[in-house]
Amino acid sequence: MSQAESPTEHPIPAATPSSPQRSQASKEEFFKSIQGYLDEAARLIDLPPYIHTILQQPKNEIIINFPVKMDDGTVRLFKGYRIQHNNLLGPYKGGVRYHESVSLDDVKALAAMMTWKCALMNLPLGGGKGGIKFNPNEVSRDELQRITRRFFHALGPNIGPETDIPAPDVGTDAKVMAWAMDTYMNTVGQLMKQAVKGVVTGKPVASGGTYGREKATGQGVVHCITEWAEERDFNLGGATMIVQGFGNVGSHTSVILSKLGVSTIAVGDHAGYMYNPEGFNPHKLQDYVKRHRSIAGYPGGKPITREEFFRIKADIFTPAALENQIGIDEGRSLQVRLVAEGANGPCTPEGERVLLDRGIDILPDVLANSGGVTVSYYEWVQNKRSESWTIEEVDMRLEKAMKKAYREVSEIARQKKSSLRIAAYCVALQRIAAAYGEREIFP
Ligand code: GLU
Repeated sequence: MSQAESPTEHPIPAATPSSPQRSQASKEEFFKSIQGYLDEAARLIDLPPYIHTILQQPKNEIIINFPVKMDDGTVRLFKGYRIQHNNLLGPYKGGVRYHESVSLDDVKALAAMMTWKCALMNLPLGGGKGGIKFNPNEVSRDELQRITRRFFHALGPNIGPETDIPAPDVGTDAKVMAWAMDTYMNTVGQLMKQAVKGVVTGKPVASGGTYGREKATGQGVVHCITEWAEERDFNLGGATMIVQGFGNVGSHTSVILSKLGVSTIAVGDHAGYMYNPEGFNPHKLQDYVKRHRSIAGYPGGKPITREEFFRIKADIFTPAALENQIGIDEGRSLQVRLVAEGANGPCTPEGERVLLDRGIDILPDVLANSGGVTVSYYEWVQNKRSESWTIEEVDMRLEKAMKKAYREVSEIARQKKSSLRIAAYCVALQRIAAAYGEREIFP
């Protein structure tokens, strides 16, 4: 244990005013930003205008207000969303987010990103996303279960293994997916008399989940970082990283990179930020966050402000929290060589411009965090075939898939002289355009 990890030192206060908060104005920008990237890539590849028009809006927007009885006997109304962006390449696919900031605009943006991610990874899946606007840390486990079951009951046959396949996202996990699957099995599945394990992915292994799904997104981020390092002749041994968000994605990225010699020297989440120049023990911090739902109170680092966090000199920054975290100010402050987007949409378009102008590389979300949905696809295939693959098999397939996608994106970026983000959109759009070109429009 390093000096700064001694359990008595500098516990971070339970909540500091430095929590990342976005303004209402910036929230409404998210869908527009994603549209902007679509427009730019569409121009670069001469996307036929009718396909561009179709992709500008989701196919279905489902909004459900549903009541749930809380532990104290009162009834609370919740607002849930399921946005089905596009299903040309296969069933809609994407996570369900439980967070108090969930809004129609966010979910629309995130659903569109799932369409690009699945197409980029060459998966026979479309894009969708869901969410419920509430703070899951403020309800009991029983309430969480009732909220989940009531929402999935209301979604009914709008989801299904060949229709729309939810998965975990911010604020949801394997346990939530088990309740979701069970609800579907006991309602829609019961009526159809069909085995429906594949209705959601990211399930616990005993309930039909796959080995390797939990770490998959972080593992995919790491594959992209190692490809980037190889391309740049950069030695990861001895490198340093700062991480925003230490949930599933941030913590697994940090743990896996620590095995390659990268130390995490600063972390932050909704409760605050902290610094340890000697490097955190990512396993311990991961365990701590699982137990306490936040880094708040972890005794291994010195509390710092959000502004200080963004000024720390390190090699890599992995944003793994929410969207719109890196604007112009953060873009100017960051002292890193690489931003690896574990989160969806962490850079605003303006923030990205500042970073690229300063020569800082960005591994874009649709590429960098696509390991999650890729292993979700492996889970879905195993469910269809009644198979169970080993962790080695899953790891091997994911590594091949991530490296292939990285190289394709990197090559297109070189050819088109574009950013990696726009190149990733180009690869995805070309696949979608090919399918539209063959099928055209009904009727
Ligand atoms: N929520 C994850 C994402 O944003 C995973 C989605 C999935 O596995 O379907 O990519």
